Amino acid sequence: MIEEHDSKEIYCRILGHHLGFKYCRSAANGLPCRKLPDCWFEVFPVQAFMEKHFSKEEIDSVLAPPKPKLSSLLEAIKRAQES
Ligand code: SF4
Repeated sequence: MIEEHDSKEIYCRILGHHLGFKYCRSAANGLPCRKLPDCWFEVFPVQAFMEKHFSKEEIDSVLAPPKPKLSSLLEAIKRAQES
């Protein structure tokens, strides 16, 4: 079940305080924080957890590197011009 590790806690270097796995696995609009593998790999087999509970597409979207702001802006302009 997806809640099996929710009681585990670690220190979040981004937010600056301890938090539970439940937050990390759902921090991105219900999908995992993109740092999930980096933060949790020493605690339990988090990669296997992700593969069990999320589709490949969801994992790929979570782990994709953030787009540079200029690239995102150009895509938004292109979409606006096309509509
Ligand atoms: S997975 Fe994200 S929210 Fe959770 S501890 Fe790591 S950086 Fe913080």
